[in-house]
Amino acid sequence: MESRLLDHRERVLAPGSIIGILGGGQLGRMLAVAASRLGLITHIYSETADCPAALVAQQVTVGAFDDVEKVLAFSQSCDAVTYEFENVPALSAKAAASAAPLRPGARALDVSQDRLAEKSFLSAQLGLRVAGFEDVNHVHDLRRAVKRLKLPCVLKTRRFGYDGKGQVIIRAESEIDAAWEKLAPAPCILEAFVPFFREVSIVAARGIDGQIAAYPLTENVHRNHILHTSQAPAQQDDGSAARMAGQILEQLDYVGVMGVEFFQMEDGTLTVNEIAPRVHNSGHWTQNAGCTDQFEQHIRAVAGWPLGDTSPLHGVVMTNLIGDDVKNWKGLAAQAGTHIHLYGKSEIRGGRKMGHINQKI
Ligand code: AMP
Repeated sequence: MESRLLDHRERVLAPGSIIGILGGGQLGRMLAVAASRLGLITHIYSETADCPAALVAQQVTVGAFDDVEKVLAFSQSCDAVTYEFENVPALSAKAAASAAPLRPGARALDVSQDRLAEKSFLSAQLGLRVAGFEDVNHVHDLRRAVKRLKLPCVLKTRRFGYDGKGQVIIRAESEIDAAWEKLAPAPCILEAFVPFFREVSIVAARGIDGQIAAYPLTENVHRNHILHTSQAPAQQDDGSAARMAGQILEQLDYVGVMGVEFFQMEDGTLTVNEIAPRVHNSGHWTQNAGCTDQFEQHIRAVAGWPLGDTSPLHGVVMTNLIGDDVKNWKGLAAQAGTHIHLYGKSEIRGGRKMGHINQKI
């Protein structure tokens, strides 16, 4: 039988090949839609059968992410495996990589799963600016770290934090004990508070041949710690954020799309906040900008195909539909120039990302 892999050395996937996606959320869903446009088949691995991605993919395996045997069997049925969230357990990632090309690789997961490893990698290995940080495993460490970094500062769990979960701002010494109580006993880091002027991000891809393609700088506004809007191209981009993203991709020998979030000071100085080894919410605007969108770009990279064009034909502002915002779907769908994307989640919850809209600017 003819292999679906066109080239065994480079591991290029031909149309008809199966891409496994660990994770079944909205990112997996939009990856599956993009893959199907390229004639590729997606197989979703998710904890639930009715997750957003499973509803649009051709194949689904339901299992726990730490069920190494199941992840291995799933990966054996795929021509390449990727993921749509960074908390894939290390042993499961290893099992996946033993059965099929895992793109991006396990190193990207190791670095991005743990805020301490991430900050050490960015600052010590790449020399990039990050917020001052200290390892905190006990309330005594926290007191010492507050003295060193000065107030205000932000206590964060090293693992499993997202959308402001697993973090507390400490503004006064009297708040130290309460902050520790809130997150303990999880290993934490304390970060210096960065008095940023704005938040920006870069979504960039690296192909299996090392080709790098970055989208323009995006300006992000958060509400209640959740991304509210992303606007691109951002004003005043000197290209340094994209260069830093390129360094990160190279250093990790990365294949796929990555999101890199920065804090920017008024003088233009950039501090890397965090990296996400996957397609990123701040890249959703690419779907309606006239260029290759980030989901297709990731699938292209994972399949070993050439990367697509990242130059938008016009500016776009993306607005997330959080919780009840989605109830206005009919009104939004009726608005000229508004592209609406809904994730097929049956239950609306406060703070839950239900969809987004893209508007030309
Ligand atoms: P994170 O989960 O680390 O991306 O943090 C979520 C949001 O909290 C960021 O987008 C910032 O708006 C804010 N934040 C996190 N860390 C810091 C910091 N060290 N200094 C200032 N703001 C922060």
